[in-house]
Amino acid sequence: MAIEKIIDNNEDNHDESKKIEKNDVEDVSSDLRPKILNEYVGQINIVTSLKTAIQASEARNEAMDHVLFHGPPGLGKTTLAHVIAKEKNSNLVVTSGPSLEKPADIVGLLSNLGEGDVLFIDEIHRISKGVEEYFYSAMEDFKVDFITGSGTFAKTLTFPLKRFTLVGATTRVGMLSSPLRDRFGLTYHLDFYSEDELTEIVNRSSGILGVSIEQDSSKEIAIRSRGTPRIANRLLRRVRDYHQVNHKEKKLDRIIASNAMELEGVDIQGLDRLDRQYLITLSNNYKGGPAGIEALAATLNEESQTLVDVVEPYLLKIGFIIRTPSGRKMTLDGLRYLGEESRKLSEEGSQGSMF
Ligand code: ADP
Repeated sequence: MAIEKIIDNNEDNHDESKKIEKNDVEDVSSDLRPKILNEYVGQINIVTSLKTAIQASEARNEAMDHVLFHGPPGLGKTTLAHVIAKEKNSNLVVTSGPSLEKPADIVGLLSNLGEGDVLFIDEIHRISKGVEEYFYSAMEDFKVDFITGSGTFAKTLTFPLKRFTLVGATTRVGMLSSPLRDRFGLTYHLDFYSEDELTEIVNRSSGILGVSIEQDSSKEIAIRSRGTPRIANRLLRRVRDYHQVNHKEKKLDRIIASNAMELEGVDIQGLDRLDRQYLITLSNNYKGGPAGIEALAATLNEESQTLVDVVEPYLLKIGFIIRTPSGRKMTLDGLRYLGEESRKLSEEGSQGSMF
């Protein structure tokens, strides 16, 4: 079924049948999610614009315009969908593009939405074309036309909908068709976070998790988090484990944090094994490029989607690779990084490889 989870933020609404909870792999991190806009760190322009849109719609007693968030994974798109519902005191219905398969699912999903409800669709670029068309009239005119039967027996049933807010999230905005994209009144691109913002996120998360951490260590985690809050929270948990098991009696200082992250294979640039494998493959197997993404994926034995969504955005941001019409290419900075890494390894007399 299409609906994964419905969270009831409206305390007056006690309709238990609407609360569907599913085992959520992000359960632990959901405690770390900011609940309201004032707790949300960074992305100042987006937060300011959302505050205005929420206040204006509250003043008019209306549902907010549909919102589209795009950007790499782990930057806070889902969190913002939760925040919007919380700030609007509305119910949140969560689903994802690939789970919306049949038109009947869509009609059921949309016609169950209440006035002002927030419908969050993650990976919205993955909804099928046939299903997507149902959203056009739903988003614009708050109705769905459902065709039953075929040929001369075909009949169109029109279902009126309550005024809801669709919040879409995608890592691939380019894959969204323009009719769908154009129906979002508010579109935001989430960018990587600065070191200071990530330090603030690590401090906030360590407070919630009850980890006593020195400021230098928070900063060290921030530096190695690839501009991404989800990674910052994950590294914080690994650092906490390492400290608890190996150095419980000491303060969690920068050295302990660095050692824990080195053990995880995360270097000072925040690059992990897959990032390094990618750079080494591009440099050695393809002489620095240009190389096509499918060729790289095959050599690395990885999904090309993982490379495009997870690995490349940060390597592009720090200027280690570039995309050209003929494929991916290493930059001088990328080559310098690899040279530096292999020099370090030979100085340490390491027998291992950079993998
Ligand atoms: P996305 O949907 O973009 O993949 P999420 O919204 O799931 O990312 O965010 C991943 C995790 O990072 C969340 O669980 C949350 O704890 C944390 N996070 C994201 N953005 C922020 C932020 N601005 N401030 C604090 N924590 C954040």
